[in-house]
Amino acid sequence: MTYVIAQPCVDVKDRACVDECPVDCIHEGERTLYIDPDGCVDCHACEPVCPVEAVFHEDDLPRQWAHYRSVNAEFFELASPGDGRGDHRVVAALPPQSSRKRDIAVFPVGREDTDDVDVWFPTSTS
Ligand code: SF4
Ligand code: SF4
Repeated sequence: MTYVIAQPCVDVKDRACVDECPVDCIHEGERTLYIDPDGCVDCHACEPVCPVEAVFHEDDLPRQWAHYRSVNAEFFELASPGDGRGDHRVVAALPPQSSRKRDIAVFPVGREDTDDVDVWFPTSTS
C-alpha cells in the first residue's frame, strides 16, 4: 500500500510532507512532488501536514484524481536515473494551478496500455 500526492500539490509544493517522511520516498518534480510507491511504508505522517489536502491513501483517492496513483508510480518507472525528472506528462500539461480549493479544476485523462506500464496522459489542457 502507498500514499499518493494528487493534483492540489501542483504549483504549491511547500515540501511540508518531505520533512515528515521517515524513509525519504517523496521526490520533487518541476511542479509537484511524487511518492515512490516502492519506498512508502504507509505510515500516514505526510497526509495531515499538507496545507492543501493533496495527500491521500491510495484507497481513499477522490474519483477525479484516481489516476494519480499511476501518475506517482509512473514518475519513477518512466524516469531515467540522473535525468532532470521534470514532471509526469499529466502534470506537465496542466495550466497554472491555484492553492485555493474551489479553483482546482478537474482535467480529463486517458490511458495507453504498454507492455510494462499503463501510461496516463492528458486528453485536454483547457
Ligand atoms: S505515508 Fe509515510 S512513508 Fe509514505 S510517503 Fe507518507 S510519510 Fe513517507
Ligand atoms: S505538503 Fe502537500 S502541497 Fe506541500 S509538497 Fe507535500 S503534497 Fe505538496
